[in-house]
Amino acid sequence: MIEKTSSDIIVVGAGAAGLTAAIGLAQGGWSVRLIGRPDTGVNARTVALFDGSLRLLENLGLIESLRPDFAALATMRIVDDTGSLFFVPPVEFHATEIGLDVFGENIENRLLVTHLMAAARQTPGLEIVEGIVTHAIHEKEKAEVLLDDGRHFAARLLVAADGRKSLLRKAAGIATRDWSYPQTALTALLSHARPHREVSTEFHTRQGPFTFVPLPGKPGMPNRSSLVWMMDPQEARRRERLDDAQLAREMERQSHHLLGHLQLEGPRSFFPMSGLAATQLAARRTILVGDAGHGFPPIGAQGLNLGLRDVAHLIDCLVQGDDPGADDVLARYTAARQTDIRTRTFGVDLLNRTLLNGILPVDAARGLGLMALANIRPLRRFVMREGVMPRGSVPRLMQAQGANSR
Ligand SMILES: Cc1cc2nc3c(=O)[nH]c(=O)nc-3n(C[C@H](O)[C@H](O)[C@H](O)COP(=O)(O)OP(=O)(O)OC[C@H]3O[C@@H](n4cnc5c(N)ncnc54)[C@H](O)[C@@H]3O)c2cc1C
Repeated sequence: MIEKTSSDIIVVGAGAAGLTAAIGLAQGGWSVRLIGRPDTGVNARTVALFDGSLRLLENLGLIESLRPDFAALATMRIVDDTGSLFFVPPVEFHATEIGLDVFGENIENRLLVTHLMAAARQTPGLEIVEGIVTHAIHEKEKAEVLLDDGRHFAARLLVAADGRKSLLRKAAGIATRDWSYPQTALTALLSHARPHREVSTEFHTRQGPFTFVPLPGKPGMPNRSSLVWMMDPQEARRRERLDDAQLAREMERQSHHLLGHLQLEGPRSFFPMSGLAATQLAARRTILVGDAGHGFPPIGAQGLNLGLRDVAHLIDCLVQGDDPGADDVLARYTAARQTDIRTRTFGVDLLNRTLLNGILPVDAARGLGLMALANIRPLRRFVMREGVMPRGSVPRLMQAQGANSR
């Protein structure tokens, strides 16, 4: 007998992945409860969403409210700033080379979550429960979660969208492989003198990438970008103590004054760099989506885009009328997601390590790779397509055309 507090699906975690999953599943006709507390406080972090993610948001009817806060990414530029003997001139990739107007759109993470939460509140079939899950219990026919205020809810499927330290993942008995890098990412929102012209520039330094990503202008601040700057943790501690003007001067020097005079818009944030791979993507009526299942450094803007592909595939794996938490659903989801997740995790890790490693053969290989990307057109197109949407089966909600045309 299923009690009144039961739904088909419980999604735990009100980050971008959990909110999108909850909205998509409710739109698919499932009764859904989303449990979490959205973190919409100011932090200087943005996410670049690529073509497939934009199609998903468009198909769920979520994109129009986001557009005013989007900034287009039409060109991606890589500048080798490692000081390597194998110097390679800057390489540029243009979205038009693969038939797109733009690769994607960049948005402040807190604005994305705020808009998604507003949409979630309007979605029929979706109930939002503000709270934190402290326990999950799994039975043959259902699973149950307990909240910090004593409430409890049951469902046939739990979607773990509760981020890297996922409680649901641990409760389902899923282990992780964890590793760390000798790097910290400093993030900041900046206004600058010169326009970005919809170009994202990634300087590859020996301590990791220093990346400007376009943001939309604001009144009095027509030129804005976000910055992700990976550096040695000791340098991060030193830069934490600099005042805004001193830090801005270091950013100007590091970027060779590309965008002219820089000014910090608000607080800076620091993220220690690590990686995480769940050994299973589903178990005990629980499916992992987003950072609950995978994590790696912010290189090439892959993290949330991968998480949104989890969401779109999850929706495809469920069939109305069937038990959404049944073992065959969990197996279908795992089969749909494991290659993409493994490939991204491996690729980002490899790229990061080649930057950190200064030995000559590795430098030579990286230099040759960049030269090949600059000069071999089919390879360029392949890499660009893989960056925005991997080969293999494209989930239904990422298939329609037109999300990123202007
Ligand atoms: C500096 C930086 C730059 C990045 N840039 C990009 C980019 O350009 N493009 C891109 O695709 N990705 C980027 N990423 C990665 C991206 O930000 C993450 O992949 C994404 O935010 C993960 O979303 P999520 O919803 O899975 O997890 P989270 O955002 O971590 O959300 C998890 C949610 O679950 C909640 N929660 C946790 N435990 C519980 C519990 N027990 N009960 C209830 N709720 C709980 C948390 O409060 C939180 O709201 C970047 C990451 C960093 C650090």
